[in-house]
Amino acid sequence: MHPTDRLQGETPERLAERLGDALTPPEARRIIAHVVQRGGDSLLGVQQLRTTARKAVEAELPIGQVKVLDRQASQEDPFVKFAIALPDGAVIETVRIPLERKGRYVVCVSSQVGCAMGCAFCATGTMGLSRNLEAWEIVEQVRLVAAELRASGEGRVHGVVFQGMGEPLHNLDNVLQAIEVMSNPCGLAVDARNITVCTVGIVPGIDRLAGMRTRIRLGISITSAQTALRRSLVPMEGKYPIQEVVEAAKRFHERSGRLVMFAYALMGGVNTTDAEADALAELLKRMPARLSLIDWNPIAGLPYRPPTPEERDRFHDRLAGMGVPVIRRYSGGKDIGAACGQLATESTRKSRPRGTRREPGAPASEAGETSASSDQD
Ligand code: SF4
Repeated sequence: MHPTDRLQGETPERLAERLGDALTPPEARRIIAHVVQRGGDSLLGVQQLRTTARKAVEAELPIGQVKVLDRQASQEDPFVKFAIALPDGAVIETVRIPLERKGRYVVCVSSQVGCAMGCAFCATGTMGLSRNLEAWEIVEQVRLVAAELRASGEGRVHGVVFQGMGEPLHNLDNVLQAIEVMSNPCGLAVDARNITVCTVGIVPGIDRLAGMRTRIRLGISITSAQTALRRSLVPMEGKYPIQEVVEAAKRFHERSGRLVMFAYALMGGVNTTDAEADALAELLKRMPARLSLIDWNPIAGLPYRPPTPEERDRFHDRLAGMGVPVIRRYSGGKDIGAACGQLATESTRKSRPRGTRREPGAPASEAGETSASSDQD
């Protein structure tokens, strides 16, 4: 086995295949339901599991253990942020987002410890990348929130959005494996149509998703439609210009039939000009998509500010006047650092001092937008 594999990263089908003759498919289904759905921490509680099969599974794959270090509930809105410790001591953040429909929640998950994308306006971007999350570590974030909702009687997990720490298309194999488990009826049974993968625009990753004809949703963080400005804010623009990203999004839409969600974080005086609105409208023309405008959230040490109400209204109205299907989106959890762009744990933040930014076009990979808002309903 791979030393970091754990049972929570397996579908029943994969588990049965891994174990071969030692495990039957019904036994595999009961094991995954016990561990992923019910949070079982030992296989002794699995019904109708032969002792030989249990021992074979225990020898092949342990049950992974994570720990909730901190739970902060917003005083302003019903957002909750969790700090979760992984087995190697790394800490990630996960956000529970309420939907308008009572009793339904979206879980904003992290896909990496830190992020290599280095977006200038994002707290996670100041951390650098420590490592990718394993599939089971992504699944565990959703499982923990689902278990809490079930125990408190508050509701259930309706959807998942990959908009926490990290660029999911930079860790796509593990993200896809986690989505399989989350959407499996024996796993967390989240409808794949309610799972959104958000990226800053890694074209090969978008094309890979398009080729899969997946039912998941794609979200793209634009930040600016003007090359020079976007390049100064999103280093990946140097590798994958936004025009190529939008073309890839079109291919995704054509293959999957899914509407692409574009997100635009408004930074007052930076990307709220009329020229920017015009460039954005031009970029998205003939693209079947929905554009969400969201206020950039203050992050200590970063030289940006949210838009004024006048800037926000003018930008929105100019886009709407040009026929762009644009909506305003609320980003909650600001008081607990759970809003879009604010996720960054102190332990990992220390690994890369604030102000140490990657140059445009530099290394690594791709990105989404560090979160806590949701387009789902
Ligand atoms: S916005 Fe997304 S891709 Fe960019 S640094 Fe933050 S987490 Fe990474």
